[in-house]
Amino acid sequence: MYQYKIHANLWGRIFGTFSSLEIGEDEFTIIGKDKEESKYCYDKLIDIPNFNYYLWGLQITFSFKGGEIKLFFLAKSNAKEIEHFISICTANSLKQKISKAYIEYQAFALNQYLRDSYIKRLDSSFRTLVAAYKHSEPLWNTYIGGDELKLINEITSVYPIVSHADQIRDLYEKNSLHNKDNFFCNVESNPLTDKQRKAVIRNNDRNLVLAAAGTGKTSVMVAKVLDLIVNEDVLGNEILVLAFNKAAAEELKGRLFKRSDKYNIEESAFPIISTFHALGRGILKESEQSTRMTKFVEDPAKMLAWVTKWLIDYCGRHPDNLDNFINLSTVEVNPFEFESIEEYDRYVHDNEFRTLNGELVRGYQELLISNWLFKNGVEYEYEPKYTPKTRIDIGFDYKPDFKIKGTNIYIEHFGIDRIGRTRVGIDSDDYVEKLLEKIDLHEKHGTCLLQTYHFYWVEGNLETKLKGLIKAKDITLIPKSPDALFETLKKLGKIAESANNFQKCIVAIRAENLTENDISERLESFNVPNHKKYTTILQSLHQAYIYELSSQQEIDFDDMILIATKAINEQKFRPCWKHILVDEFQDISNARMKLIKAIVAKGPNPILTVVGDDWQSIYRFAGGKLELTTRFSEYVGSNSETILDKTFRYNNSIAETAGQFIMKNPEQYKKEVETHDKVTSPQIFLLDNSGYVNDEYADKVASIIKTIRQQDTKGKISVLSRYKYQLRSAKTTISRKYKIKGITFWTFHASKGLEADYCILIGFCSGILGFPNRRVDAKFVEALLPTLDDFPFSEERRLLYVAITRAKKKCYIVADPNSRSQFIEEFISPNYHINIASERFTEEYKKIFKCNSCSDGYYELLEGKHGKFYKCSSGFVCRSKPRVCNECGSPSIDYRNKSICNNPSCHSEKEICDKCGRPMVVRESKFGKFLGCSGYSLKEDRCENTRRL
Ligand SMILES: [Zn+2]
Ligand SMILES: [Zn+2]
Ligand SMILES: [Zn+2]
Repeated sequence: MYQYKIHANLWGRIFGTFSSLEIGEDEFTIIGKDKEESKYCYDKLIDIPNFNYYLWGLQITFSFKGGEIKLFFLAKSNAKEIEHFISICTANSLKQKISKAYIEYQAFALNQYLRDSYIKRLDSSFRTLVAAYKHSEPLWNTYIGGDELKLINEITSVYPIVSHADQIRDLYEKNSLHNKDNFFCNVESNPLTDKQRKAVIRNNDRNLVLAAAGTGKTSVMVAKVLDLIVNEDVLGNEILVLAFNKAAAEELKGRLFKRSDKYNIEESAFPIISTFHALGRGILKESEQSTRMTKFVEDPAKMLAWVTKWLIDYCGRHPDNLDNFINLSTVEVNPFEFESIEEYDRYVHDNEFRTLNGELVRGYQELLISNWLFKNGVEYEYEPKYTPKTRIDIGFDYKPDFKIKGTNIYIEHFGIDRIGRTRVGIDSDDYVEKLLEKIDLHEKHGTCLLQTYHFYWVEGNLETKLKGLIKAKDITLIPKSPDALFETLKKLGKIAESANNFQKCIVAIRAENLTENDISERLESFNVPNHKKYTTILQSLHQAYIYELSSQQEIDFDDMILIATKAINEQKFRPCWKHILVDEFQDISNARMKLIKAIVAKGPNPILTVVGDDWQSIYRFAGGKLELTTRFSEYVGSNSETILDKTFRYNNSIAETAGQFIMKNPEQYKKEVETHDKVTSPQIFLLDNSGYVNDEYADKVASIIKTIRQQDTKGKISVLSRYKYQLRSAKTTISRKYKIKGITFWTFHASKGLEADYCILIGFCSGILGFPNRRVDAKFVEALLPTLDDFPFSEERRLLYVAITRAKKKCYIVADPNSRSQFIEEFISPNYHINIASERFTEEYKKIFKCNSCSDGYYELLEGKHGKFYKCSSGFVCRSKPRVCNECGSPSIDYRNKSICNNPSCHSEKEICDKCGRPMVVRESKFGKFLGCSGYSLKEDRCENTRRL
């Protein structure tokens, strides 16, 4: 039934298409000229119908989601009354829509943290309403009014949500902080800090919580879980907490358990707290797959033995394999690729070229020659004294590279390319001249000189050329049998060394979850020589390993993760967690990340919160992929980010030094750590261990402990070192010789998560077993490990950060002044405020400030109106005024074009303007890059000086 009926007027009857409009309480009907009826409910309308009164009749516009219907030429009688009626009917339906929209808004944006995934959804629910409201505001004001009008106003004020998200979230945070204040004050033994509270509240789809050492990330984990259960009515079994290892999982469980009484939480309502492995194992069980662990996991030695056996089989299978293996067992290097002589020297220093014959040679190509001779049974001497037949004195000490035993034949390998160039650090003219002299010399004395060249190797035929030369001299080749060669390799330790490296590769391949293609690409992009050969051998090793496990129906730790991920992706297991929390995220591997992603993708749109400290990432060797933290957004998409930067553990001196040290690497997040404890003098002490005869470090440590004990009889003291062996010997000496008890000993790695009042860090020296550890893995192992930022020693730097921040009160660093660690050299600079309590190091420090223009002045730091600068203490006599080095804060001395830092371990150079002394900056024009004076843009005293780059 209808309340009103409007007929078409005269015009309508002639020109229109409909005859009448019937208006009821719930619907209205348009009746066509052909008697066709179209019925519409009011909830189909998105706006209040628009009535227009024209001379030729009434016009009504109805707006629907898909468009409009306009009715023309209607009779005007009673129209005002009808307009009122129909507007109220539509308004009632719109009011319901507004309420519904607002409920959604409340649920997704006011009563919870606005999640990125809800923004689109909200915007699309609001779009039509807001547009209609803006279009017909006066009508809405008249007919909707009251509460709903307020609501639509509120919705309009935050529309589109996508550009008001920050504001909405701020409001939510403010309200939550207020409402949950009591909870946050009492949930842990200390009230949570503001940042900790925010980390708990923020429940975006993805949340990154970055912590610095000692800023209470475990408290955040505990509080977050409790907040969800106690305040947000989330069920325990809807929450999954992933801990890095068993100990961490136990600690979390313990801390939650402690609080459970207070909040009346039954044990059954506890969240699932698990290690990745336990989780994977559970998923395998539920999807009915084998969880029997392989023998390899109990004992890494068994794994190594298996790899060794595989290698032996591999080499025995085919003579080519053995040859392959010999080639791969030494790392190929091209001396022409080094850019500086220092770099080359360091490489040669850190790598040894040991031949199959057992001797050390000077370079890779000499190694190839030696090995070829050895393999072919040609006996030779390396670098023999040159003794021509005539036995005359040639006037200088000449040692050719090789001599073939029992003959007059010598081999010289010349490091030049086709156009006579040499590697860096060698003058090519000089080299070529000497080369010619040598040829002359042999000719003169009737000895035979076989010559090989660097470019033979580049062109891939060094060995063929060598063979040709040797054969031409009628020397018989007696190739060694594969068995004999293999025995040689074994004796030289090559088998063991390679097995070790290959085992590391297997670990990396599985932790990074690499396919054959990935392996090949990694090796290639890392410029690993022979990358194809490596790919083939590694792939068959990996396949053999997988076969070994599957044929026994066994799995290893990686499988727990890999197979579980597969099970989820293949929907053999359905994850149902709504909240996923991951601890120690900075050490997460690619394989683990893939498992998390699968859980998130196949779950009920869960919220993922990861907690970690990119400054403390130290498990790369086990697959820890720091990039996942430092580039979190790139990997998972938009996310909330909270930085925990207040510590109650250590004081400002330790925070500043450690922070400055770690942030030297630009790849690390910037964090300013605020400390509760404030001190005015440096609490990091640099000491040296000289003067002790027996065990240098242990003796020094004993004396430091005595000093500490004089002031603090109870404080916890810990001795830390990069390597276990140093700790072992220090421990023995300290307890046996000095009878000191109650000290703990930690390696830097194992110290993570621990703390002591006083920490004594030892083992700071340079070299292969020094710190930072210079020993790098073989290039092909490196290539397969998670990518490392290219800042030098970045992982070792993080390790020292971890070690220093274990100390609550004082940190003592004991260094060897005779073999100086690069990190110690860095500390000895004005930028670091540490207490140099060593005469040797103090002298070093003083040298930085010695005036280089007068005989006894020292530079002093002054502050002028243009910033800080140095001035010589000789005052009037000396006018030297160095600038401050950007890198280390030392005086930097100006020369004509350059300013060079006076600190020998820094020596950073900066281009300066030779006209006005301002720094030069790189600028670009259409002719390319050039250096321009930074005074160019100044209004006064402008300098237009430029220089070629
Ligand atoms: Zn001076
Ligand atoms: Zn410097
Ligand atoms: Zn200038």
